[in-house]
Amino acid sequence: MSASVADPQAHTRPVPSSVDAVVVGAGFSGMYLLHKLRALGLSTVVFEAGTDVGGTWYWNRYPGARVDVESLAYSYSFDSDLEQDFEWQERYPTQPEILRYAQHVAERFDLRKDIVFRTRVASAQYDEDSRTWKVRTEHGDAVTARFLVMATGCLSSSKLPEIPGLESYKGTTYHTAHWPHEGVDFTGLRVGLIGTGSSGVQSIPVIAEQAAELVVFQRTPAYTVPARNGPLDPDERAKIKAEYSTFRATNRQMPAAFGSRLPASDRSALEVDAEERRAEYEYRWQKGLGLAFIGAFNDVLISPESNESAAEFVRSKIRDIVPDPEVARKLTPHQVIGCKRLCLDTGYYETFNRPNVELVDLRDTPIEAITPTGIRTTEGEHELDCIVYATGFDAMTGALLRIDIRGRDGLPLQEAWAAGPRTYLGLGVAGFPNLFTITGPGSPSVLTNMMVSIEQHVNWIADCMDHLRRQGHRTIEASEPAQDLWVEIVNAMAGITLFPTCNSWYLGANVPGKTRVFMPFVGFPMYAEKCTQVAQDGYEGFVLSG
Ligand code: FAD
Repeated sequence: MSASVADPQAHTRPVPSSVDAVVVGAGFSGMYLLHKLRALGLSTVVFEAGTDVGGTWYWNRYPGARVDVESLAYSYSFDSDLEQDFEWQERYPTQPEILRYAQHVAERFDLRKDIVFRTRVASAQYDEDSRTWKVRTEHGDAVTARFLVMATGCLSSSKLPEIPGLESYKGTTYHTAHWPHEGVDFTGLRVGLIGTGSSGVQSIPVIAEQAAELVVFQRTPAYTVPARNGPLDPDERAKIKAEYSTFRATNRQMPAAFGSRLPASDRSALEVDAEERRAEYEYRWQKGLGLAFIGAFNDVLISPESNESAAEFVRSKIRDIVPDPEVARKLTPHQVIGCKRLCLDTGYYETFNRPNVELVDLRDTPIEAITPTGIRTTEGEHELDCIVYATGFDAMTGALLRIDIRGRDGLPLQEAWAAGPRTYLGLGVAGFPNLFTITGPGSPSVLTNMMVSIEQHVNWIADCMDHLRRQGHRTIEASEPAQDLWVEIVNAMAGITLFPTCNSWYLGANVPGKTRVFMPFVGFPMYAEKCTQVAQDGYEGFVLSG
């Protein structure tokens, strides 16, 4: 496997033995948190497994990688000079542009001096007597900290499929989430690609243009809408920047905090006739409004009939784009649309019209094994020079549970979450004092424009730490009853929607053996209001002590 892993040759800087806060991860969450904690005067060290900042955008360098929220919305809002100075070039920027942005932020706020790169946190143990966390890295450093914040990312623990013979393959393998920094030249090669989630949908058209042959192994067909990406119109960019705070405030009031080019619809798909419905979907399809396609009507994720109207619209587009009826059949999804994250693409369905692309539907012909020379399905062997795994992540809990975190009485987080993750507000866990999770399970997180969720969490956590200090409290911990109630609320909210109806990674269904629990909270504005209320009410549902 070609992967960029933490360099065993230790750190880029000395590690302090004691700090106020340890932050794990230097993606957008960890970077902003470091900036905020510095402003509070809290000594902070950030550990990061990679060699630089950027998190997701540092690791996922596969061809075609880009964000599916528009750049002007997928960016920090905390500093108006930064907002004004950084000039996004594309509507849906590529991974290199987003990484450049992360690096710009690191330089601008001089963040790197408190980040220890190439260093993976291995364990964290709470000590009742000193009421501190002892954090250990894989290099053997130990740091004592009052606060421990997991900015480890919801989609940072990559997953390989469990296929017999995986290790026997003699060609080159790549995982989209560990793409070589120097890039990959597929010219003249026979490439196999497994997985048609977002990373597959983005990379397939680009790899197909280069490779001699591309064989796509598909388990579940994807719903995807055209991004219609392009350079940002300078006038439009200037217009949004002139009213940036209003633009941001509008976003925060949208159910998933995506960009605000269109107000959220207040109509049911069933309120209008078939022609008007189709016109609305067609408008969003043509304009490349991305995830706002699902927001065409207010009940697409609630009413099966409304959902079917949106799903059928996309299916009709597949039939229009792909003339071969057998290929179109294989590409056509039948699950609820939006139940798995809707993808944005540039020429995805069209790619299957190319003579050098073959689609293998694993529902018809499952993979039997990976062999030394390729992939064998029930239909026969595909000889391949390399295999790309676009097989995603152990989402939301994977990166947290990879670390041996032990709370009060030595309770391992793995045990506390044996029946699925349990948190209060996705911010705190009962039994784990002074531990915070950014965009953790039980918060809106992956259902939203994550930059907005990240800022909301970081602001809340920093305010909370400031409050504890001012009030002379030593610890904060979610109470069991508040946590139990919150878990019920998260489930109840999901139950109103169609989200739990398919085998998505939101439910952990992509990881064999993972307990199926719908992890994110549905509805950003309501959630943010609840967090504010909790803080205003003296951190209701948390126990503050000391
Ligand atoms: P990350 O960016 O994942 O950073 C976490 C960091 O923690 C990583 O660098 C990792 O190396 C480090 N880390 C983890 N464990 C340890 C450890 N034990 N020790 C040390 N370091 C550790 N979101 C959107 O809103 N819109 C999108 O369009 C979108 N597209 C995406 C596309 C892809 C391919 C992926 C993978 C994610 C996408 N996301 C998108 C989600 C994206 O993860 C967030 O938007 C955001 O970048 C998360 O930032 P973060 O800092 O919370 O986590």
